[in-house]
Amino acid sequence: MKCPNCGERSTVEIDTHSAGYTSEEYPVKECAACGLVWCMKVVKGEMVVDILKPATGK
Ligand SMILES: [Zn+2]
Repeated sequence: MKCPNCGERSTVEIDTHSAGYTSEEYPVKECAACGLVWCMKVVKGEMVVDILKPATGK
């Protein structure tokens, strides 16, 4: 999955059970390039990006 912030494709899936996030349906991703942490969720039938942690701007 592409990073919604910088477009980098090198993303890491975070173990949601140890990180304290509650998203069971969609895995939480972290961008290896900019540090953005996000997950996808469905709002009114549409997929939206939910930013959990802003990019660190490496
Ligand atoms: Zn990124």
